[in-house]
Amino acid sequence: MISKYTVEKVNSVPIERIAQLLGLEVNRHRALCPFHPDTHPSLMFKPQKNIYRCFVCGKGGHGVGLVMEKEGLSYQDAVKWIAGQEHILVEEDEGASFNKQKKGMELEEIFSPKEVKYTLDSQLVESRRSNNNEFCEAVVQTRILTREQMQRAASLYRTGSTLTDRGIIFWQIDEQQRVRDGKVMHYLVNAHRNREIKPNFISWLMKNKGQDVYRLPAEWEATRCLFGLHLLGVVPQEEIMGIAIVESEKTAFICSQLLAERRFLWMATGGLQSLKPELLLPLKGHRIILFPDTDPQGQTYAQWCGTARRAQQLLSQPIYVSDFLERVATEEQKKEKIDIVDYLMGRRP
Ligand SMILES: [Zn+2]
Repeated sequence: MISKYTVEKVNSVPIERIAQLLGLEVNRHRALCPFHPDTHPSLMFKPQKNIYRCFVCGKGGHGVGLVMEKEGLSYQDAVKWIAGQEHILVEEDEGASFNKQKKGMELEEIFSPKEVKYTLDSQLVESRRSNNNEFCEAVVQTRILTREQMQRAASLYRTGSTLTDRGIIFWQIDEQQRVRDGKVMHYLVNAHRNREIKPNFISWLMKNKGQDVYRLPAEWEATRCLFGLHLLGVVPQEEIMGIAIVESEKTAFICSQLLAERRFLWMATGGLQSLKPELLLPLKGHRIILFPDTDPQGQTYAQWCGTARRAQQLLSQPIYVSDFLERVATEEQKKEKIDIVDYLMGRRP
């Protein structure tokens, strides 16, 4: 079921805007009626009530109804159609109307979490441990971190460097210190990502390019975990005040130092779509706060709120979503989709 919130947003899209999206030419609150041969505009719009009516064929109603009628869509699909056109995030509701079959499936997943079949040799992490990469240099050169802070963060997260092209390796190591995979990323001197080089996973590289000794078997499959999850097994429990979750590894790395006094463990999903409720399972019992990035419509925030609600059910505990950036970021910053580090940097004299 589409959430009430989404439906409300869709219903607030002006009727004339929807008519235009459907290809109708709106002029002085009128248009040619698409439902009967019409040469003189007989479809009228009432912006105050956000409805339309044709005084010839009698068809009328709200925007969603207009889309259903004109495009031959179901109610749900018409809502989604408008949402898509207007970049409104479609949230699914898991309240009373929660689909039983789906719930059954999810419960099954909860009680039999994906088995971790394959892991990488932890020797690999040790052997690649080095700060000789673009990222570690850039965060120091741009003065985001001091050299000592960079070194501390790098040793905390056990980041490594690729052998030949100075990429950084962000390992995904779980709370039992099993190495699930490693993500290779490239950065520019301004500490922004080098988007010309796609991120890669160590497991892909080892599958496809690995020399005999290192080559992974074809069936090898990674089970992802949060970046920084291993800290749970490293930092003494009584010292952990909470877990802060951000999108990018870079942000977690930097916040671990810039906001160190809060004694939060900073972890990253590694991507906007990668925040899944089951990833939070190992964190059960801890205070969890999500820090979504911003965007002009607050879509990431809404999406993470949705995931947080599902995770709350899964973990039976509250999960907080910080609306800090939604409140303080300027329109300009939201356009740039800033995260908490960008915000802190922007404030620095
Ligand atoms: Zn008509």
